[in-house]
Amino acid sequence: MIDTHAHLNDDEFNDVKEVLSRAAEKGVSTVIVPGSDIDTSRRAVGLAGSYSNIYPALGIHPQDAEGENLDTLSDMISAHKPVAIGEIGLDYFYDSCPKEIQKEAFREQIRMAKRFDLPIIVHIRDAFDDAYAIMAEEGAEKGVVHCFSESVVELDKVLDLGLYVSFTGMITFKKVSAGLLEAVARVPSDRYMVETDSPYLAPVPYRGRRNEPAYVTEIARKVSDLRGITMDEVSQETDENAQRLFGI
Ligand SMILES: [Zn+2]
Repeated sequence: MIDTHAHLNDDEFNDVKEVLSRAAEKGVSTVIVPGSDIDTSRRAVGLAGSYSNIYPALGIHPQDAEGENLDTLSDMISAHKPVAIGEIGLDYFYDSCPKEIQKEAFREQIRMAKRFDLPIIVHIRDAFDDAYAIMAEEGAEKGVVHCFSESVVELDKVLDLGLYVSFTGMITFKKVSAGLLEAVARVPSDRYMVETDSPYLAPVPYRGRRNEPAYVTEIARKVSDLRGITMDEVSQETDENAQRLFGI
């Protein structure tokens, strides 16, 4: 199984080797580590150099967009050949970065992804309409909306662009919306993936703890319940989707 989004480059992880071996014991063989700014993007590249089953994505997160240098990012992408540009997007939940700066950085990184022919990993929080409008305008057609937490209406819009969605531990939470569960049940088998978003969003029964890639199996279990298929089938579908999208 592939954990398509885990911040093993976060300060929370000074035990990556052990984390990866616990993941391997659960059949989680591969992890994609996204960047949030130049520093964490650099660390993602470093981890990929140390561990053959880690693949890096490089990008500037909307909350970190102010003052980050996109030329530096572009140089790093040329030099290091990541599997994606991310995570990028819009986040209106926190106001750590003005909306206009977020939008500009998002748009610019979508264009960069097209120049490099790379998929994008998109983070959207409380900003679906604006994010969707920018993706549609820019013709974003290769990528994934990570931590998908909307309903089937938004799912259809994302799918129509050509994008994938990925699900986190949020789908295991007691307070999850019915619309999101319906999206999990209905998404086509060739358009979804699973991810932990470690160290955040640990799934039930690990809620409140530091999340790690081994726990992606709990998310796959919930997906299998909702879709009425086996864990093996979830694993096979999500692996194929991640391999196709990220070229791994
Ligand atoms: Zn993330």
